[in-house]
Amino acid sequence: MSTLLSSFDARTGHVLGQVAATAPDALDAICREAAASFGAWQASPGAQRAALLRALADALGAEREPLVALADRETALGAVRLNGELDRTTFQLRRFADIAERGVPFAVVDDPAVPGAPPAGHPSMQRWSVPLGPVAMFSASNFPFAFSVLGGDTASALAAGCPVVVKAHSAHLLLSRAVYSLVQRVLAEQGLPAGLVGMVQGGGKEVGVALVRHPAIAAGAFTGSTQGGAALAAEAAARPRPIPFYGELGSINPVIALPAELGAHGASLAATLAGSITLGCGQFCTNPGLIVLVDHAAAEGDTRAVNDAFVDQLAEALRPLEPHAMLTRTMRAAFDAGVAHWAEAGAEWRLHAEAPVDQPPRPVLAQVSADQFIAHPALREEVFGPGSLVVRAANLAQALQVLQAVGGSLTVTLWGAQQPTDEVRSLVRATMAFAGRVLFAGVPTGVAVTAAQQHGGPWPSSTRPESTSVGDAALARFLRPVCLQDAPQWLVGRGGRPL
Ligand code: NAP
Repeated sequence: MSTLLSSFDARTGHVLGQVAATAPDALDAICREAAASFGAWQASPGAQRAALLRALADALGAEREPLVALADRETALGAVRLNGELDRTTFQLRRFADIAERGVPFAVVDDPAVPGAPPAGHPSMQRWSVPLGPVAMFSASNFPFAFSVLGGDTASALAAGCPVVVKAHSAHLLLSRAVYSLVQRVLAEQGLPAGLVGMVQGGGKEVGVALVRHPAIAAGAFTGSTQGGAALAAEAAARPRPIPFYGELGSINPVIALPAELGAHGASLAATLAGSITLGCGQFCTNPGLIVLVDHAAAEGDTRAVNDAFVDQLAEALRPLEPHAMLTRTMRAAFDAGVAHWAEAGAEWRLHAEAPVDQPPRPVLAQVSADQFIAHPALREEVFGPGSLVVRAANLAQALQVLQAVGGSLTVTLWGAQQPTDEVRSLVRATMAFAGRVLFAGVPTGVAVTAAQQHGGPWPSSTRPESTSVGDAALARFLRPVCLQDAPQWLVGRGGRPL
């Protein structure tokens, strides 16, 4: 008998419906079907890949109203945010359609033969890219469209020539099923095999682990917690034939605010930061979870008063904000537990109001010294929700030690780097070594889908800091270089399109 999984209304906790967990034999069949569809899809021309991706975008757009309504019930993210996220998702699908149509997956480095003895002389060589094969794609809870069934990983993998097997997220099971049936309709309309995009469902660890272990799976793409991503990355590495595992994980996204900037614009920066901390109830991987203030900056001397004033402004800006319900009851409880750990490690509350566990959380702001922060690893863990921790560094050297203690992050924001002083130069050097994206203005929430985007940073924010899950470069994760030496003309004539 199959195990039933429940979908919950995120606001009320009521059961919305149930779906069957994928049984082991069904998972095996889905992975085999993905593998069977690989041969033809890897050889497909860019125009065919583009046609599929655009049809998927059109279908998603056409079913916007019921899909957003369902997503809203399962996630409580609200219609405005979810409509925006759906727009982003169709944009990503269309952008990867354009990328495939332009022939980016088939780019060739041509090295014509050079007569003579090596090392200067060499045979005719061409460097191609081949798709890896079926990708196991783990959806995130907090992006039910953009990092889910038809999210960025699916778009980039299909554009690269790879089939996809989606692991639906248990926090939006009904939405995943609805989007998946739309995918199946489009595949049938285009005469493509159903197995090109498969989907499995399962709570707990079994289904996800079985998917990563399946011999037909050639790569993993994961968006979720550091803990879950680390466990699955270890599974991928422990296979008899290890596979690449691209894990986009949790992050605490430090904001380093230099005193001169706070002195000049403290009130407006506090308001902007408060909005970013509470956006989407703080449930963003780019949520600014850490604010580093430097109490003795070389240029300005003792700046404690400026920093104190900023912390007060931030607390006041946060106080009236009312975050919406969290994605799941488990996450709601984890938020309370996370901020409780701050207090246990000696943090001083700057804003803290208890809210019942069946109600949305209240914004939280706490403060510690850099010494405390460095001494207590618990303070460096992501607290997923509308809270942020202020760290007071005695000087710039200590601010850098704070970054070193964190290790790595998706983003770091540096306010006040407009003049290239020695102090600013060393900070910029440190931030570039620390994060995938360095912002010199604004706040880290909001990840633009562009050619230059880098969404992925050093551990613990990602398992593969050299790759990105957002933006055009995400395509490269699912391609592998192959050099063809003295290839026959018929093969060269394919212009980089695999067989
Ligand atoms: P999650 O709990 O790690 O879940 C992600 C997926 O992995 C789910 O399908 C989950 O299964 C599965 N899973 C988790 N641990 C597993 C394990 N040990 N074995 C097998 N499968 C496992 O994360 P989440 O709740 O979706 O999202 C919240 C986290 O994602 C936050 O930390 C946030 O910062 C991060 N996030 C990162 C990014 C980024 O781009 N870096 C973007 C968005 C969110 P179930 O569905 O059955 O639980």
